[in-house]
Amino acid sequence: MAIGVKVLKRPVAQTSYLRATLKGMALTLSHLLRPKVTMQYPEEKSSTDWTISPRWRGTHRMLTDEQGRAKCVACGLCPQICPANCIKLVPGEDEEGNRYPLIYEIDEFRCIFCGYCQEVCPEEAIHVGVHYENSECSRDRFVYDLERLCAQTHPVSTLWDPSDPSGE
Ligand code: SF4
Ligand code: SF4
Repeated sequence: MAIGVKVLKRPVAQTSYLRATLKGMALTLSHLLRPKVTMQYPEEKSSTDWTISPRWRGTHRMLTDEQGRAKCVACGLCPQICPANCIKLVPGEDEEGNRYPLIYEIDEFRCIFCGYCQEVCPEEAIHVGVHYENSECSRDRFVYDLERLCAQTHPVSTLWDPSDPSGE
């Protein structure tokens, strides 16, 4: 297929930019009359037009049982599947043979928020959360230990749209 090339010539005579300037100003002024779409974050975090999706994958949360213990049974699946290799798990075992995490840490700085850890967890213990306000001033603060993961209270991600579970 032939490629058409359009050659634009520079104007030879003096050109006035007044019309283009007025057009630009008219466009700017027309925006003043349109409904406001900006939100005054952080005072405003959602509106009738916009809320964060329940599928959002943000800061992790470890769910706990009635006694406040982490639901994790240290099976090792989530560190195994994590593509960013950002989950550190040291398993322990009590006198009855129940496994639990001695150390469980997630480096939120390295995490790519794929949600695999949530998908693979047989106990539905670890979840990505509907939360994004996790900025820190130093890298080490991004490493969330078990206590900090359990202390998170934000909603957990559904990972999929409940109104469209097949994702089509
Ligand atoms: S969301 Fe993905 S990258 Fe982040 S900790 Fe879970 S498995 Fe790893
Ligand atoms: S997959 Fe679930 S139960 Fe297994 S180590 Fe990870 S958080 Fe714990």
